Amino acid sequence: MERNTRQRIAIRNVIAQAERPLLPQEVLSAAQQAVPGLGITTVYRNLKALVDEGELQAVNLPGENPRFELAGHEHHHHFQCRHCERVFDVHACPGDMSGLAPQGFTVENHDLTLYGRCKDCAALAPRALKRPATTQQHAKPKAHGHTHRHRS
Ligand SMILES: [Zn+2]
Ligand SMILES: [Zn+2]
Repeated sequence: MERNTRQRIAIRNVIAQAERPLLPQEVLSAAQQAVPGLGITTVYRNLKALVDEGELQAVNLPGENPRFELAGHEHHHHFQCRHCERVFDVHACPGDMSGLAPQGFTVENHDLTLYGRCKDCAALAPRALKRPATTQQHAKPKAHGHTHRHRS
């Protein structure tokens, strides 16, 4: 198989298997397993070609580089984790939003992004996510223990 074709297939497969929109850099890391020596320029070139061919579509979140997902998904939304910054699909939609628009305006489409913490990051201890802003207070439990616990 021609190297160009192999690269293109590897890049498409990575996105198909990810089941979430990927940044070019994420595509590169995963596709390098199948195509050693793959470079970011080649990834960009193939992503663009795959979009032009209608295989992929770009996901543009405000202030973020474009991510890529398979084209032809039905209407869906996204969730971005504020900790690891990965973007996930949301297979739900609040539905008709005509009521939000000013009177006399017609809603034709909407974009919706949820922000929060993904399942992986939610499982991490809060301390691992954020450094305490001040020095710790009340950190040491009493040596003799067995006292009532503070409610958290
Ligand atoms: Zn996360
Ligand atoms: Zn929707």
